[in-house]
Amino acid sequence: MNKQDIKIHLPSGAAKILASLTDAGYEAYIVGGCVRDSLMGRTPSDWDITTSARPDEVKALFPKTIDTGIRHGTLTVRRDGESYEVTTFRVDGDYADHRHPDGVTFTGQLAEDLKRRDFTINAMAYNDERGVIDLFGGQTDLRDGIVRAVGDPGERFREDALRMMRAVRFSAQLGFEMEDATRDAVREQASTLSAVSGERIRDELEKLLLSAHPERVRDLWSLGLTAVFFPEFDAMMATAQNNPHHCYSVGEHTIAALMAGVRVDGAQTSRDCGMSPEETARLLRLTVLLHDCAKPLTKTTDAEGIDHFKGHPQKGADLAGEILRRWKEDNRTIARVKNLIRWHDQRPESDAVTVRETAARVGRPDFPLLLDVMEADVHGQSSFLQQEKLTRLAEIRTVWRRIVETGEPVALSDLAVTGQDLIGAGMKPGPGIGELLDVMFRDVLKHPEHNNREWMMEHYAGRMRHED
Ligand code: ATP
Ligand code: MG
Repeated sequence: MNKQDIKIHLPSGAAKILASLTDAGYEAYIVGGCVRDSLMGRTPSDWDITTSARPDEVKALFPKTIDTGIRHGTLTVRRDGESYEVTTFRVDGDYADHRHPDGVTFTGQLAEDLKRRDFTINAMAYNDERGVIDLFGGQTDLRDGIVRAVGDPGERFREDALRMMRAVRFSAQLGFEMEDATRDAVREQASTLSAVSGERIRDELEKLLLSAHPERVRDLWSLGLTAVFFPEFDAMMATAQNNPHHCYSVGEHTIAALMAGVRVDGAQTSRDCGMSPEETARLLRLTVLLHDCAKPLTKTTDAEGIDHFKGHPQKGADLAGEILRRWKEDNRTIARVKNLIRWHDQRPESDAVTVRETAARVGRPDFPLLLDVMEADVHGQSSFLQQEKLTRLAEIRTVWRRIVETGEPVALSDLAVTGQDLIGAGMKPGPGIGELLDVMFRDVLKHPEHNNREWMMEHYAGRMRHED
């Protein structure tokens, strides 16, 4: 098929916005990621529009716009229940700080606007009339699976260092390779990533981790990018593990576990935790990425030459907290990742009592996540006892499923007796209440059938009186 004959099916809102702009005498196109994704047969996450109309002219056509990024010429227009970002063709000014253009200038030329975009596959525009506008070979690169900077890659990364993270992120999301000159330019300028804020880097890192190719963190490392925002990973890559359970360095083990995690983290876990599949996967991938981050700090080698990493889970939880704060991660995420790392190296047996006790210690919301982390971890280890470890994890999952379905107690809030009950029975408010509740809780973890208010009030009546 002739390239000009390609038809992209637009959502009705986007089609209407393009028609309004064109009818008013302006040029208008969909542009960037949505063109790329449509040409690849993927569903675009959003549809961006670029136009020759100036922001005030866009406002005149669409009465209810939102000034999303008005300084850069971006307005949000709602149509048919969807939001669309409409941006005036623009040229970016100089980038003095490796991140933000000193200013933007509007232009009447689509070509100018496409030239400022990061990669050839992201620099295409489309409308029904003119078809795909592809000035930099974006369609060829899409077909060949290549991430190539528009124009001189060195210059483009000097302007905006975040583009280096984006290059690796798109290669991971799309399963593409980076073109040689683009890759070389990243390697040369990796250190300028320090000009980019922690949260922008983290956004890109998370997209990479959530892609089908989380192993591309290896590219972030080999190109010198992790050295800037995640030097702990460089230490992990440099830490060998001479231990029967392992066959890789800490870093390569982490990569293997991340790849296994793509298969492990399931819909079941997200249902168990009451979180979206995306949020579940995000927590899991971050945890797996960081679970062994303290191994380089805790490594010792015994007389037989075997390496040990005593205390790495607790130290790792602390270090992961520091790293995530540096990346401006939210407190809830930090707390959960720390908790999961703290417990990741426990090897609980699969009997019901141990499973309930472990779930109680880890916390009910995190326990299913922990099982996924443990499974990914085992997949990244050597074949020594690997099958046994996986079998035991599968047994634990089966037991856990039964515990969830039968509603057996695994949290203090599941206890049939409350502090109020104990006060009602004559106990004085104070630490004695908490202590007795804890005794009861440990009892019902071992014997869920004891979790009966009458039975417990009678059975523990002596302990309640004993206090006076
Ligand atoms: P995603 O699916 O992640 O949204 P996307 O390609 O739409 O991918 P966005 O970050 O939404 O990426 O950006 C939209 C478009 O804006 C890109 O396709 C690209 O043309 C351009 N763009 C975004 N960020 C940059 C940047 N840092 N430098 C140059 N162009 C950029
Ligand atoms: Mg987008």
